[in-house]
Amino acid sequence: MAYFNNKKEPVEDVETKVWACVSEDCQGWMREDYSFEKTPSCPLCKSNMEREVRVLPELK
Ligand SMILES: [Zn+2]
Repeated sequence: MAYFNNKKEPVEDVETKVWACVSEDCQGWMREDYSFEKTPSCPLCKSNMEREVRVLPELK
């Protein structure tokens, strides 16, 4: 099999700090690097958000 046409590099998953919505019914979260406020509120439901670490595909 020839793979030389497949130039796509595998995306590495890295531990990423995120803000996650505290509401259990809500899937809202954002990358900490992309939040502009010190304590952002959820963009979906305006609840508070808590910091947590998730394993996400690395952004380049
Ligand atoms: Zn929310």
